[in-house]
Amino acid sequence: MLTLRGAQQVFRTARGDVPAVAGVDLDVRPGQVLCLVGESGCGKTTTARMAAALSSPTAGEVLFRGRDVATMDRGERAAFRRSVQYIHQDPYASLNPVRTVFSTVSAGLRRHKLVKDRHEARRVTIELLERVELTPAEDYLDKYPHQMSGGQRQRVAVARALAMEPEVIIADESTSMLDVSIRVSLLNTLGRLRDDLGVSFLFITHDLAVAKYFAWRGEIAVMYLGKVVEHGPTPQVVNDPRHPYTQALISAVCEPDPDLARTKERVRLRSSDIPDLTDLPPGCDFHPRCPLYAEGSCDTERPPLVRSHDRLLACHVVTRG
Ligand code: SF4
Repeated sequence: MLTLRGAQQVFRTARGDVPAVAGVDLDVRPGQVLCLVGESGCGKTTTARMAAALSSPTAGEVLFRGRDVATMDRGERAAFRRSVQYIHQDPYASLNPVRTVFSTVSAGLRRHKLVKDRHEARRVTIELLERVELTPAEDYLDKYPHQMSGGQRQRVAVARALAMEPEVIIADESTSMLDVSIRVSLLNTLGRLRDDLGVSFLFITHDLAVAKYFAWRGEIAVMYLGKVVEHGPTPQVVNDPRHPYTQALISAVCEPDPDLARTKERVRLRSSDIPDLTDLPPGCDFHPRCPLYAEGSCDTERPPLVRSHDRLLACHVVTRG
């Protein structure tokens, strides 16, 4: 449904060109959850912004239902904007501080003529607030963002997205700024929306435990320095990570999860320094840090992303067998 083909994003800076995303292929299928996982700066958000047409790729294309978003006319672009909704990391920054909840959630309803008058806008807004578990909904209608907690503000942002009856929700670290208990509660709400409404998700997170929780029946794509290095069904990637970088991510961040903790201690990085995107090493981008580094191929040839059994992998060594 939502497809990135060879999508690239290069930023021009005083220090040189920064290839933030270097040719990514991804498909978000109907009703599917696709999680993009990786460290800060790996290109997850840049990829998500291209997928939402909030920025244009410098090369490659973004397709929605087979149509190139870049060549859509005004009407098609408006329909795309309605169908693909973006939920930001920081709900406080994404909500207008001088608008009430009713004004924020109902603005799109009125703009797209999904309601005929204010009375219907109020009724639909109440339904949406109940759907995201802000109850009693009437108590929230006249509140401003500063009168709510971070979790409540993020639920308003989700209600605003749902008002557009989207086919795809792009959730960019949407739970990462919340306390753990509130994060789990919001993830449960998003999971119910995913199951009840059949909305597809492109879910961005740096936390593999969150990815596992939210996308167990979906797929995970692991990004490193602007490229996908491992992509496959969530249970396989989480329980049997094959790329050394995925193994390092799991062993570094997921200790409390007993399944993920099984791989802890397995990975010893050769270096903790992330290479500079303006001065990438030759060969595999991960080779200065990789515990499986093999002289002769890892530092001379960039590994392509190829199918290896149940997943896609970019590694000379683990795809040999
Ligand atoms: Fe490590 Fe070599 Fe694989 Fe890169 S190609 S991840 S350096 S083993």
